[in-house]
Amino acid sequence: MELWYTEEHTPAVRFSIKVKEQILSEQSPFQRIDVFDSEEFGRFFTLDGLMMLTEKDEFIYHEMITHVPMAVNRNIKNVLVIGGGDGGTVRELARYKSIERIDMVDIDEMVVNICRRHLPFTSCSLGDPRVGLYFEDGLKFIRRFEKAYDLIIVDSTDPFGPGEGLFTKEFYGNCHKALSDDGILVNQHENPYYDSYAGAMLRAHERIKEFFPICRVYQAHIPTYPSGHWLFGFASKKYDPTGDLDGGFWNALGLDTRYYNTELHTGAFQLPNYVKRALGSA
Ligand code: SAM
Repeated sequence: MELWYTEEHTPAVRFSIKVKEQILSEQSPFQRIDVFDSEEFGRFFTLDGLMMLTEKDEFIYHEMITHVPMAVNRNIKNVLVIGGGDGGTVRELARYKSIERIDMVDIDEMVVNICRRHLPFTSCSLGDPRVGLYFEDGLKFIRRFEKAYDLIIVDSTDPFGPGEGLFTKEFYGNCHKALSDDGILVNQHENPYYDSYAGAMLRAHERIKEFFPICRVYQAHIPTYPSGHWLFGFASKKYDPTGDLDGGFWNALGLDTRYYNTELHTGAFQLPNYVKRALGSA
């Protein structure tokens, strides 16, 4: 008998991975959590039947969501991760000795506990003494801060279910308030290719633009995400993501990355025409 994980990328498109073994399936108060092992992508985990990460390609997402802002402002000391319960973003941040504090707020403690037990390759730095873990809705958590963080990374699920509030105007306004005068906001920005995701991406971009003077989008190729073409948003009060790239500084750190490098950093902001046009109309 063959066992396959199948995700609907659109009502007319499906993506499947052959499963060796289902490790776990649990329902939290917020979402269904599943962990699988596969031949091609190694261990992977899903929330409400949607792919969160695989052992084989998670490095692309986590490196791109972290190193892009870190290579632009060398003085980032206080960081907030909203979502990110698997720990992959915290793992990349923890590689910077210059960071003094990493707060992570995930709505679902069960996700974090399951990832700590079953996904050591991403959760390995959650015990770093600089990391503070909070289990709360990010939409509410962010309301209480003013100029507290140099960088906020929104590593959320899609804009439906528990992640919905993290794509609202109220949320982006509060992120702006919680950031220092040279603060940067990076968020996962969905995919531009399928209409259902592209709509969410444009709405998010439009809302972020209302608060931040600098608002750009960059891309990466993530094989297990819908269409494989994934966008990230870079919004900032001061820094231009390519003009202010501090490549000499970043390369001197000697971090060994598998996807990110400073040439790719610049290239990632060069978008295909259809994406440029869509963003231009936002
Ligand atoms: N890389 C992933 C992706 O885009 O597929 C996202 C990974 S991470 C596992 C997403 C996390 O966001 C989950 O752990 C989920 O519990 C958390 N989350 C969803 N809604 C949230 C909210 N309102 N506040 C805080 N965390 C939230």
